[in-house]
Amino acid sequence: MKKRRTAEPYKIKAVEPLNMLSREEREQALKRAGYNTFLLDSEDVYIDLLTDSGTSAMSDQQWGALMVGDEAYAGSKSWYRLRDAVQEIYGYQYVLPTHQGRGAENLLSQLMIKEGDYIPGNMYFTTTRAHQELNGGTFVDVIIDEAHDSSAELDFKGDIDLTKLQKLIDDVGAERIPYVCLAVTVNMAGGQPVSMANMREVYELCQRYGISVFYDATRCVENAYFIKEREEGYQDQSIRNILKEMFSYSDGCTMSGKKDALVNIGGFLAMNDEELYIRSRELVVVYEGMPTYGGMAGRDMEAMAQGIYEAADDHFIEHRIHQVRYLGDQLIEAGIPVVRPIGGHAIFLDAKAFLPHIPQDQFPAQALAGALYLDSGVRGMERGIVSAGRNKETGENNKPKLEMVRLTIPRRVYTNNHMDVVADSVIELFEKRDQITGLQMEYEPPTLRFFNARFSPLVESKTLI
Ligand SMILES: *Cc1c(COP(=O)(O)O)cnc(C)c1O
Repeated sequence: MKKRRTAEPYKIKAVEPLNMLSREEREQALKRAGYNTFLLDSEDVYIDLLTDSGTSAMSDQQWGALMVGDEAYAGSKSWYRLRDAVQEIYGYQYVLPTHQGRGAENLLSQLMIKEGDYIPGNMYFTTTRAHQELNGGTFVDVIIDEAHDSSAELDFKGDIDLTKLQKLIDDVGAERIPYVCLAVTVNMAGGQPVSMANMREVYELCQRYGISVFYDATRCVENAYFIKEREEGYQDQSIRNILKEMFSYSDGCTMSGKKDALVNIGGFLAMNDEELYIRSRELVVVYEGMPTYGGMAGRDMEAMAQGIYEAADDHFIEHRIHQVRYLGDQLIEAGIPVVRPIGGHAIFLDAKAFLPHIPQDQFPAQALAGALYLDSGVRGMERGIVSAGRNKETGENNKPKLEMVRLTIPRRVYTNNHMDVVADSVIELFEKRDQITGLQMEYEPPTLRFFNARFSPLVESKTLI
């Protein structure tokens, strides 16, 4: 019997019409953007897969919540709703609202890290590492080796390698490690999850040495779904239960509400230790605001509280993960080189394998992202040599092993028909991939160059494809 199909667990109440430019107009737009998809105007994009950060669609309940937001400077009702939602779904005792995830990272890093400390983590994230380093810490990658291999098919490719963690403790001493930062899921590894067993083992190991464990909980609900799907004993458990158990193996978390809390802005820092909470309450007023609004408007706290409940719904998250996989599976079936297995929030096209005729210093991932936009108005993001920047000492281009185009799926925004359009375009590009040309850099900003760099096609008469 044919497998029964499923559909979005919501219906559409408001629509936002999309601009559909002609091929010629897209050529003009890409030229104006210097062949960098970051510099395209949103108006010129048909399907926007640049990021899943702050791009979620809110529900009718969340839009209603905006209206009842309490904008009191102190003791806002909306703050209590947010605090209750975090306590109920995440299980932490103390909560501080921040303007977004990095606001929480700033507070945690300042409170916990001393000059010369080491912070082990399962692969770095840009803002997380930046705050650790600003406070004199050194990030140490203790993720399992397979996470760096784009074709290793593992259920939990985000796990921490306990041997690496133990070795770091032996080498530098537990007193030099204020906490372990465990990301669930691992964004930079392709949205790969961490197993419950690994969380438990990391926590047990850390407890033996008096080291805290803080989660980067940004995509914790996606991680919970993978546990339900793949880990022995969790198939019949609710996402809420799984989340509760996950967080029980930690001392606190930083959270970007812009991903798994289904809002466009916001975040929080949460913890169980009262003494640490009192110190964070002192610091939040310096960087964010009063502890009962932090960096958020009352209406935004209200919408985030509602989003936290909605994200923990089993039907929501099942569809979310399946939609990403729906696109990924079509590409895999067509033989397109992608990072495997498909993770929680994005598809990563392997641009080196896609465009073997373009050497890495001609920016194959940037060229592929440009070609995809030209072909169908779909916007992805370069994650390769441009993003990797230059070596600080030698000035040479860093040459990352992975040269990728990230197609990130916003939550509840596009239908599976949109995914079909993306798949068709990528597959057609793959069929005529030898016609795609490389790029040269025309303008290179000194820092975080991927945001503002400008390019032009190497073959002058061509527009990439
Ligand atoms: C987005 C993100 C952050 C930072 O959150 P912001 O809300 O963008 O400040 C931290 N960690 C991970 C894994 C993220 O994806």
